[in-house]
Amino acid sequence: MLSKKVILVVEDNEINRMMLSEMLSSEYRVLEAENGQAALSVLEEHREDVSLILLDITMPIMDGYTFLSIAKADPVLASIPVIVTTQSDSEADEVAALSHGATDFVAKPYKPQIIRHRVASIIHLRETAAMINQFQYDRLTGLYSKEFFYQRVREILNQNPGHKYDILCSDIENFKLINDVFGVAAGDQLLCGVADLYRRLTGDGGTCGRLSADQFACLVEHRDKYEEDMFIRANDVINALPNAKNVVMKWGIFFVENRSVTIEQMSDRALLAARSIKGQYRKYFAAYDDKLRDELLRQQTIIDSMESALKEEQFLIYLQPKYRIRDEKLAGAEALIRWKHPEWGFQSPAEFIPLFEKNGFITKLDQFVWDKTCSYLKEWDSKGYPQIPVSVNVSRADIYNADIADTLIKIVHKYGLPPSRLHLEITESAYTENPGQIIETVRRLRKLGFIIEMDDFGSGYSSLNMLNQMPIDILKLDMKFIQSETAKPISQGVLQFIMELARWMHLGVVAEGVETKEQLDRLLETGCDYVQGYYFAKPMPGKEFEELLKKQETVEIEEIREKDGREGRTGERRTGSGKQVLLVADEDAKYRKQIIENFSEYYEVMEAADTGTTLEAIAGNADCLDMVLLSVSLSGIGGSSVLQTIKRDKTIWNIPVIVTGPPDMQTEKQAMAIGADDYAVKPHAPESLRKRINHAIRLATFPKREQDLKEEAYRDPMTNVLNRRGWEAATASLQKEDAPFAFYLFDLDNLKEVNDTLGHMEGDRLIQEFGDLLHAHTRKTDILARYGGDEFVAIMKQMKSDDAAMKKGREICQALAEKRFAEKITVTASVGIVIWNVEEPLEDVIKRVDLALYRAKANCKGGCYLWKE
Ligand code: C2E
Ligand code: CA
Ligand code: CA
Repeated sequence: MLSKKVILVVEDNEINRMMLSEMLSSEYRVLEAENGQAALSVLEEHREDVSLILLDITMPIMDGYTFLSIAKADPVLASIPVIVTTQSDSEADEVAALSHGATDFVAKPYKPQIIRHRVASIIHLRETAAMINQFQYDRLTGLYSKEFFYQRVREILNQNPGHKYDILCSDIENFKLINDVFGVAAGDQLLCGVADLYRRLTGDGGTCGRLSADQFACLVEHRDKYEEDMFIRANDVINALPNAKNVVMKWGIFFVENRSVTIEQMSDRALLAARSIKGQYRKYFAAYDDKLRDELLRQQTIIDSMESALKEEQFLIYLQPKYRIRDEKLAGAEALIRWKHPEWGFQSPAEFIPLFEKNGFITKLDQFVWDKTCSYLKEWDSKGYPQIPVSVNVSRADIYNADIADTLIKIVHKYGLPPSRLHLEITESAYTENPGQIIETVRRLRKLGFIIEMDDFGSGYSSLNMLNQMPIDILKLDMKFIQSETAKPISQGVLQFIMELARWMHLGVVAEGVETKEQLDRLLETGCDYVQGYYFAKPMPGKEFEELLKKQETVEIEEIREKDGREGRTGERRTGSGKQVLLVADEDAKYRKQIIENFSEYYEVMEAADTGTTLEAIAGNADCLDMVLLSVSLSGIGGSSVLQTIKRDKTIWNIPVIVTGPPDMQTEKQAMAIGADDYAVKPHAPESLRKRINHAIRLATFPKREQDLKEEAYRDPMTNVLNRRGWEAATASLQKEDAPFAFYLFDLDNLKEVNDTLGHMEGDRLIQEFGDLLHAHTRKTDILARYGGDEFVAIMKQMKSDDAAMKKGREICQALAEKRFAEKITVTASVGIVIWNVEEPLEDVIKRVDLALYRAKANCKGGCYLWKE
């Protein structure tokens, strides 16, 4: 039961006091005081819980009026309703009581019914008012709620017709990301920080409200000019809050001139101004002015006229040629839309495409482009011109459309073209946005025979690891990427690396936005296949392109198609000798020659001088290669990277690799940690190398029959937990009955520090200790593996509950912390945890556990975070 509400009776006459208590005590808890002074001291203790005061006016020591004046000056007491009890029905008394702040009055002698009724209804009224009050405030930040903010601003404007005001709004640019990465609690904390900032900005009693999740507004005195400085400081204040990393706040200002506009519209306009500078570096505020208004109006006119423009054929297709770098032959083209408006002239797609993407018109427009492009192709084919492919842009909105495959197939059929003539350019960011769905759709399109180009590669954040799961044929490098990469010295850029990776994955590479000879030369040097850019030609009308096609020699973009992933890759055995095949990958031509001389009696020896050719040779000969002799100092991305790539790929990781290099312990250890089968110090005697090679091949070819050898190949020698290879095998054979699994990703927070300050021996010892610890705290049937340098994974079977999973994680981290591994360094481990029921694909779990670990670390080192949806 709820505790009774409390009423304070202030009355000097003892009998009256008792009577009132009597009447009310069945429903309320009654406190008593015999005069104003005594009432104040009772209230000192009970100020928060008194719901109502019954107050006599005439009393000794302190009368009712004096009590009222004192009480009404105190904000908490002022909100307690007071019913004054008067001797008579005198109107003068009533007026005096009300003007002193009483809520109501009753005349003596007391009538129980009336007293009870008045008391109840006044308490009820007050509670309702308190509730309304609650809705006036935003629960989280205590600022006004949106509606109340609008109402308050309207009142202020009405009450001060001669006064000038501005409305300031702000929007946090990356709030969703912050919420996702750091968690809702951190997001809330940030919002409260923003609210404090607004309070400071507007001073006492300022008018500030929260309009939506991360959008705030306030009303301030008008200023003719705002300085960037003020907003930079505001940004700094926010970024100084805990957990606020790289928060970007954009501010918008609306000058209140025309007061007939609703406050909601005023705020919207201020927000529009804020949004207009989204993504603009070092721009913190914008005012809603004529320029912005015109821009918004213009956007509206564009939208209003798009349909008729399509009907009236104002949209044209331009084509921009693509050339093969090697011989500068025409190899294809990209179809780009142009809008030729009868009054405004040519409109830039950069302006209207984003609008159409937002309102959905892009789907219609793109289909028009695809159709028109195919009609060109057919026309040129019929004239007997060389049959080059043309690429069209596929916007992300198109891919979400369930019928896209049908639509595209219908179009190519209509013109009797094979799908491969149409290349589909899909922007990189579309893949990263919603990988699952996009990949599915694109895979279907690719199966149907369309060639897929990943557009704007390098502008987004797709990880290189993800690339090999993507159904694509051609990488189209983003213009900005090309321009910045080609400005760097070759050794500092990643262009070379991407090129090698692309070649290894059998992807063609097109560079976009090539404007200068220097850029072209650099691209040629790094092995890029095709270019598109102003250096050769700008986009041109169909007729003009036709002339080009007529005159020029062409080649066809030769993309290498494989069925999903790499399963279709078959290498051709280069010889029929029946000997075992050995690949020597070494930058030193003399060394290669020597190996060929010493070993060709026993082996078929292939050679490769850099990482690109090495990866190519391995990929092309995956099923006949018996051994790789890999130099750590191989030019290009380096021997270790090649080794890593091999050991990560299920289809080739069985090929034994002997790493060759200098007599250096650290290098040797590192190579072994990545998964080398052996390390041979250079220079070496042919006999000993032969022995090593035989041994490695033997180990690799019989693992299935010889259990312990298999064990050896699957274990991390340092910790005796599984290595990457063992881990893959173990996860592949998980049993449904053992679900739910708790999936842990541990990270040693201080390995680098230990390595740097105490040396690698100590670093290794730390890794070993943690391995021991994992063994000690888990069951024999759990799966433990070393995932990378300082990362460990564990899958614990039949995990009872979230709590149990969390407890286990904490226990392990705690155990490490308690070890007091070193004197000067506090060594900790962080862990991310995900509960996994096996239905979900492993990649998704890994992604989530990665995020969970990220959050664990974001909180503090040694943290523990269990992922919850
Ligand atoms: P995008 O797909 O990345 O197209 C390449 C843009 O780079 C084109 O701009 C092209 O004219 C421009 N460009 C090519 N070479 C150079 C160069 O050497 N230097 C410079 N500075 N620019 C170069 P455009 O035609 O203005 O198109 C802009 C964007 O509009 C396109 O970027 C694409 O995202 C979109 N777009 C164009 N046409 C279509 C279309 O039919 N459908 C869809 N969905 N989007 C389209
Ligand atoms: Ca494109
Ligand atoms: Ca592009």
